[in-house]
Amino acid sequence: MIKAVRGTRDLLGAELSYKRWIERTAERVLEAAGAREIETPILEEAPVFEKGVGPTSDVVQKEMYALTDKGGRRLVLRPEGTAGVMRAFLEHGMKVRPMPVKLYYRGPMFRAERPQKGRYRQFYQVGYEAVGLAEPAIDAEAIALLLDLLEALGLRRHRLKVGTVGDPEDRRRYNAYLKEALAPYREALSEDSRARLERNPLRILDSKDPRDQAVLEEARIRPLLAFLSPEARDHYRAVIATLRALGVEFEEDARLVRGLDYYVRTAFEVHHPDLGAQAALGGGGRYDGLTALLGGPSLPGVGWAVGTDRVILALKAEGLPAPAEPAPALYLVPLDPPAVAEALALAEALRPRHRVELAYQPRRPGKGIREAERRGARFVGFLGEGERSRGTISVKDLASGEQKELPRAKLGSWLEAL
Ligand code: AMP
Repeated sequence: MIKAVRGTRDLLGAELSYKRWIERTAERVLEAAGAREIETPILEEAPVFEKGVGPTSDVVQKEMYALTDKGGRRLVLRPEGTAGVMRAFLEHGMKVRPMPVKLYYRGPMFRAERPQKGRYRQFYQVGYEAVGLAEPAIDAEAIALLLDLLEALGLRRHRLKVGTVGDPEDRRRYNAYLKEALAPYREALSEDSRARLERNPLRILDSKDPRDQAVLEEARIRPLLAFLSPEARDHYRAVIATLRALGVEFEEDARLVRGLDYYVRTAFEVHHPDLGAQAALGGGGRYDGLTALLGGPSLPGVGWAVGTDRVILALKAEGLPAPAEPAPALYLVPLDPPAVAEALALAEALRPRHRVELAYQPRRPGKGIREAERRGARFVGFLGEGERSRGTISVKDLASGEQKELPRAKLGSWLEAL
């Protein structure tokens, strides 16, 4: 039998109820802050990510699903949301709008990673972007909105880490320092980190390999914070101070490194203790200048993405159930053949205001009740010869067992009144 592609999965039942709940909550939380939804294509030209996310990032180097179409264009299935949103921002001339322009998105992302719990090749994100202002208050607001979303869902055990990755110039200085400071330990590093030592030593800080962590300890590596320009340091301090003023709980993390190259200055991540190896629920940061990498004017921006799949895992781990699966208010049971079309007509008249299902064949009342119960219906409605001659319906409350006969024309308002 043909199965879903490895690393992808079908979403249905409770899983999909969770996803819809998360997305609807995001709509509410983000629209209240002035964000509008944007939906960009899943397929983008490869340079959107090569230039945007950066050629040295793992995402671009190893994880992109790339294809060449019949016109010879190099296309990719988007691995993340921000670069495509900023491509669209430029394409639609959104820079003439009042700043900041706040956008949010939801949808599938694709990365060719090794699948495991909480890590898929097709996964879902909800993301938020605020473009056009460089003020630290916008960073603090973005972070607060991410927590607002998780808290509106009822999550309690997540932890926020905030740090800074500096400006590109700070990073150049820091990378030069790292290269020099780590050179004597080259042989003790993991193979991946030896390669990183040439290309992007900063990323060694992010390594989970114990050999790399041991080297970082032993070499007494100084934090990036010590290499920031005065402006970048002030920005960082202002973000931290604003978060404190908002009463946001967080931990400063001097070694926070994000996997995508476009980040500057503010970086943050939210982790959840019950998620095991894939503990990051979401993360983001500032990406001033990303628009310039994509060929437009240089604009400031800050944003984040949460992994919907992982938020679902966290909700389950905290014992927060998915919203109840929808059940019909009324299950209609025709008792004789002429009642079948009548039941269908009645269902159509009551929908979509009421959730109505029906049996499509004549049923004996006992069987009709069992069918209604299996569907979780609140009421069962019987249509037989007597009801037909009187223009009524017999409605039974499945919880109380109470039954009454109502004029059909009154059924809608009767259901509404309940
Ligand atoms: P990133 O775009 O890498 O900052 O990722 C943002 C969030 O997306 C992460 O914190 C995860 O929750 C989620 N995420 C990233 N990659 C995957 C994946 N392969 N499977 C499931 N969720 C993912």
